[in-house]
Amino acid sequence: MMPAPVPPFKRLLDGYVLNEETGCWLWTGMLTATGYGVIKVFGRFVGAHRFSYELHKGPVPDGMEILHSCDVKACINPDHLRAGSHAENMAEAGERGLMRGGDRHPQFGRKRPPGIKNRLSKPVRVLGKLYSSQNEAEAALGLGSGTVLYWIRKKHGKAEFISRQEYEANA
Ligand SMILES: [Zn+2]
Repeated sequence: MMPAPVPPFKRLLDGYVLNEETGCWLWTGMLTATGYGVIKVFGRFVGAHRFSYELHKGPVPDGMEILHSCDVKACINPDHLRAGSHAENMAEAGERGLMRGGDRHPQFGRKRPPGIKNRLSKPVRVLGKLYSSQNEAEAALGLGSGTVLYWIRKKHGKAEFISRQEYEANA
């Protein structure tokens, strides 16, 4: 008789080592070429960080990616994981590329470059309503940071930039 298969959540929780310094849960199983952990769940290979997020925090919202606040791709600590848009993921990777050294925790003391701040302060129309900035719209609608910009870039009508005059005339 075959031994009973070990359930995926147990393999996940047995499959990492804690880095006591950073708190990262480092995946000890299979890794992708780009360094993400991989686990086989019900016959399918999935990202170990993604599986960990779903296990601890719930389903990943449609179209969202799981971002590492610690920047360690093999880390599966749910406290280091959050859902964000692809645009946000790319924007963060770019910002981190500008940082000196790679050993600091990227979420502490991280500032947006001035160019990004200016762009975020432009008024936007999101789902038919006007907001003074992308940040305001995201806060009002409970969206992840970067979602509005992602929608604007997709140009499918969910979000667009509007002029300051139009915002002030209708606000
Ligand atoms: Zn981590």
